[in-house]
This record gives sequence, structure tokens and C-alpha cells, in this order.
Amino acid sequence: MAFEGLGGRLQGIMDRIKGKGKVTEQDIKEMMREVRLALLEADVNFKVVRQFIKDVSERANGVDVMKSLTPGQQVIKIVQEELTNLMGGENSKINMSQKPPTVIMMVGLQGAGKTTTAGKLALLLRKSHNKKPMLIAGDIYRPAAIDQLETIGKQLDIPVYSMGDKEKVETIVENGLKYARENHLDTVIIDTAGRLHIDEDLMNELKNVKEIAKPNEIMLVVDSMTGQDAVNVAESFNDLLDITGVTLTKLDGDTRGGAALSIRSVTEKPIKFIGVSEKMDGLEPFHPERMASRILG
Ligand code: GDP
Repeated sequence: MAFEGLGGRLQGIMDRIKGKGKVTEQDIKEMMREVRLALLEADVNFKVVRQFIKDVSERANGVDVMKSLTPGQQVIKIVQEELTNLMGGENSKINMSQKPPTVIMMVGLQGAGKTTTAGKLALLLRKSHNKKPMLIAGDIYRPAAIDQLETIGKQLDIPVYSMGDKEKVETIVENGLKYARENHLDTVIIDTAGRLHIDEDLMNELKNVKEIAKPNEIMLVVDSMTGQDAVNVAESFNDLLDITGVTLTKLDGDTRGGAALSIRSVTEKPIKFIGVSEKMDGLEPFHPERMASRILG
């Protein structure tokens, strides 16, 4: 699907303004209409768009645009800056524990990319942070998930703690953490169960795991392709578990990534990583300013 970037969208209005030498409130209004369309097309939640347009209009109506020789560019700059700020401004890091092991709990709906991201994160922390990670196979309801995690562990040469699918996940996590401490593995990543939809059983189980594992990081994994749904998912998980960070997967697809903006403004939790391929090295730190450019096109 081809998108029209904001620059292109604003071109017509800018051409008209050039001849006039002065920007009117009406011009700004028209520009904001294009900004609004660009954001909605990028799948940003409509409530988030409404608030954003209100904030940016206030700034854009200020003096700098009026004095500027290239008001269109100026508006784009303001929009870009505000978008970047809204997404946190700077890159965020994993919360590390003062006393090892650091415990990271992966949560999310089935198919979002939780198991894959658990492996990717283990690899990234070993590579760039010199950590000794371990994975815990806590997704006992999707039988293939345990095998999948074990395969990933073998491939990366990272230990996977598993007790099959007959034990309670609480037991698996408790034993896994004990194993990590005994073997001086300083970073434990717990893969948890997902469901197709959020339900009470799942949330209760995740709450129990949280209580036992006392994670430094509760990383919500969300599929960027799910667009508007991603916002509801993030909101529910955050309400129930008080997540600490988000990984947005499948950004190698043709989505504009509007979910990043919506999730951040609805949960006020930082997006920390993005998934950019199915391969194990396809995890990158989240850069708000890059995402702002992508969303605007
Ligand atoms: P889980 O059910 O949440 O554990 O999801 P999985 O980890 O099994 O991932 C579901 C599918 O999404 C798998 O086919 C993964 O290879 C794929 N996947 C995960 N992350 C990404 C990503 O960043 N990009 C792409 N293209 N595929 C991904």
C-alpha cells in the first residue's frame, strides 16, 4: 500500500501560501487537516490524533510559523518534534537489577511475537551488554511454544529452563529462578502464556507469575500490524500488570507504525524495542525520532 507523506500532502497548501507571504489561521487549519489525515492513515488512534492536533495547532499558531519563510516546513518540523516528544523523546533501556539476576517477564497475546522476542532479547543482551541470559519456558498452553523456545536456545547457545507442560507455571518460574541463581546466570527472560484474546484466567496467571518472579521489567510484546487493536491490548495489559516497557514487532511489514504513538500515549509506558525481522538478530532499540518520520512518511 502506498502512503502519501506529509511533505507531499502539504505541498499544495505551501505553494499557495508562498504567493501570499503571510500565513493565516485558515492556512494552519488546512495544514492540520492534512496532518490529521496522515496520522489516521498511519493507524494512530483517533483520540490520540485529536489531542495531538490540538496541541500542535496551538504551537503552530504561534509566532515562529508566522515569521517563517517556509511555514510548511516549519509545521512539519513542529509536528515531527511533538511526535517525537509524545513517544518519549529518547531511547529507553531495559531496567537492570542491582542484584542479579535481572528478571524480564514477556507478556502479550498469542502470535504477537513473544517467544521470538524473548530469544532476540537474550541474544541482544548477551551481545551488547555482556550478559549471561537464560530463558524460562513458561508458555505451557501452546505446546509448540516450549519446543520453539528450546530450538531458539540451542540455536543461540542460551540455556532454556523447561519443565514441560505438566507443571504449574508458578512452579516452573520458581525453579527456573533458583537454577539461574545457582548457575550465575544474570539475566532471566520468562516466556509466558498468551491467548487469542485477553481473558481473566490468563491475567490471573500472569499476576501470579509477577508476584513470584518480581520482574524488573514487564515487557509487553505487541504486533504492530494489528493497528487499532494494539491500543486496547496495551491498555488492558497495563491496567492489570502495570507493564514497564513495550516491544513493537513486525515493523518490517508495511505498517506505518501508528500503534507506537497510540500505545505510548494511552499507557504512558516507553516503547523500548522494535522487531524488524523473523531472524534472531532482528531486534533494535526504539528510536522515537525515526518512528516519527516513519509515521509521517
Ligand atoms: P508468540 O505466540 O507471541 O510467542 O509469537 P511467536 O514468537 O511464535 O511469533 C509469531 C510469528 O511472528 C512467528 O512466525 C515469528 O517468526 C513472527 N515474528 C515475530 N516477530 C517478528 C518480527 O519482528 N518481524 C516478522 N516479520 N515476524 C516476526
